[in-house]
Parts: sequence; C-alpha cells; structure tokens
Amino acid sequence: MRRRFVYVNLLVAPLSENRKIGGAACTYRPIGESGCGTCPSSCGIKDLCYAKMGVTRFTEIRSKDRMGDLEEIARFNRTLVRHHVSGDCFKEDRLDSPYVAMLIRFHEAHPEITGWLYTHNIRAWDEAGFTSDTIPDNLVVLASCDDAQDVEYAKLHGWRYARIVLSESAPDGKLEENEVYCPYDKQKDHGKLIDDIKVTCTRCRLCFGPHPFGIVFTMQFPGRFEQRAVQRTRAARSIALNVLA
Ligand code: SF4
Ligand code: SF4
Repeated sequence: MRRRFVYVNLLVAPLSENRKIGGAACTYRPIGESGCGTCPSSCGIKDLCYAKMGVTRFTEIRSKDRMGDLEEIARFNRTLVRHHVSGDCFKEDRLDSPYVAMLIRFHEAHPEITGWLYTHNIRAWDEAGFTSDTIPDNLVVLASCDDAQDVEYAKLHGWRYARIVLSESAPDGKLEENEVYCPYDKQKDHGKLIDDIKVTCTRCRLCFGPHPFGIVFTMQFPGRFEQRAVQRTRAARSIALNVLA
C-alpha cells in the first residue's frame, strides 16, 4: 500500500489551472502575520506579498484548517507541482523540518513528479542540515533573495535563487551572469495584459529546468507608498544582517 504524505496547514489542489503556473498541481499554506504561519518574519516583501491579494488570498485562508495529502497529486497523474503558492516551510519562525523532510520523501517516492518551491530564508535550510546536495533532483528549491547578500549566499551554497526587482528599468534590473528574466513577468512589465500573456510555468520551465541559474521577477507596485514600504523592510533587514555578521 502506498504511503500517505499528509500534513496540517496544507491545501493540495491537484487539478489547479493557475493562470501563471498552468497545468500543474499547486499547494497552499497559511502565511500568517508577523512571523506566524509558515513564512519567516525575515521575508523582505511580506508587506506586499501577492498571497495577501485576490484569489490566492482566499485559498491561503482556506489552507489554515486543511490536512493536505500530497498523494492526491499522484492520484491525479500530475507530473508537476508548485509547492506552497502561498506560504513557506517555517513554523514559529524556524524551519519546519518535518515538513521539508516530508517533501523530500514524497519526491523520492515519486521520481515521475517534479516539484519546485521558493523559500524566503535559505540559510535556515543549511542550518537544519537540508543542504543543496541533500535535495533530490526532482524537488527544485529556489532561494528567494531580498538583497545582494542573499544572492551571494545562495550562489556560494549551491542554491538556485530568485530575486525581485521593481521593473526591468530599475537600478537593480540589470541581469547578472547566469540570470534570466521570468518571461511572464517580463511581458507584464512591458505592459501586456494578463489575458494576452500565453507563457505559463508548465511551458517555460526555467525555474525547474535542468540548468541552474537565477530567475529575476518584476513587480509592478501600485505606488510610491508601497515601494517605500519594501525599501524600509529591506533596509531594516540589511541592518539586522550586518549586526549579526
Ligand atoms: S515568504 Fe513568500 S508567501 Fe510568505 S510573506 Fe514572503 S513572499 Fe509572501
Ligand atoms: S521563469 Fe518560467 S517557470 Fe519560473 S515563474 Fe516565470 S514563467 Fe514560471
């Protein structure tokens, strides 16, 4: 009999057809507030997290009292899963090691299923012993980076990474070596309407394809107030990192 991979605070949507992601299973977890939930308090964009908006917000709220079973993904013959479209791998601001171990066991048991996820505190993974060389090839972990220090850390420790810029024309919008723009975000950045963007993750596959590099996302914030909120969070975090270093 097949082992079940059930976890609390996890909503599994095996037949999801997310507009950006396309035909891949998706999971959702609660983001919580101020470091509660499954997100780390150090996340530099939590004030503007996309999971606090729109349809993702509704699903994120529903994930709070779910006990999701990852086996649903295999049952529906899905070969791709985007893990936690909302939320992350943390519990009370520490890496939720049992959850990460479950993800690893699931992908080891299902070599036919590729999963990918973004996590906002990759240092915690290394500290807990989940180093980049211990993750199976069919589970792709991208370090979500808030600043250049995060990017350097991810590169040094063998993690793929993702970073967000306000737009391609922003000061940090220039691509570094081995980086590529997310084609979906790039089209949005160039003013294309969401309904006219045909690329999806399941077609693009850059985030979980065979060649590791950095992915750059763009974010069109509604106004200066929101941009300043992000800059303030990043500055505070940078000071904290320098103090700790
Ligand atoms: S870790 Fe991800 S899901 Fe959580 S608040 Fe930050 S951006 Fe949002
Ligand atoms: S780079 Fe490709 S796979 Fe990654 S988020 Fe963008 S569209 Fe999806």
